Amino acid sequence: MKIILNSPIPGEIAQLRDMLESAGIACLVRNELSAGLSPEIPLSESTPELWIQDDQRLAEALEIKHAWKTAAPIEGNDWVCSTCGETSEPQFTSCWKCGASKP
Ligand SMILES: [Zn+2]
Repeated sequence: MKIILNSPIPGEIAQLRDMLESAGIACLVRNELSAGLSPEIPLSESTPELWIQDDQRLAEALEIKHAWKTAAPIEGNDWVCSTCGETSEPQFTSCWKCGASKP
């Protein structure tokens, strides 16, 4: 058993698990149910964790994780404002120049 990812975002765990499972790597999610349901539990104790069952496939799993991370929408791309045509970086949700919302 090796841990591959811990994330407070349940969608991330599910997404990576799907990718690993489609590559034939058996996965296990821990703390899945406690996420967001038990606010009295400190985050560090309730963060969902994604584990792989077969240690032999760790390198493969990490490669998949890397590919997933670089492809994840959270990384994003520069986007072009539809109002003024200025280019903004992905972390901005509105145009730095004119303030228009990200399309
Ligand atoms: Zn703009």
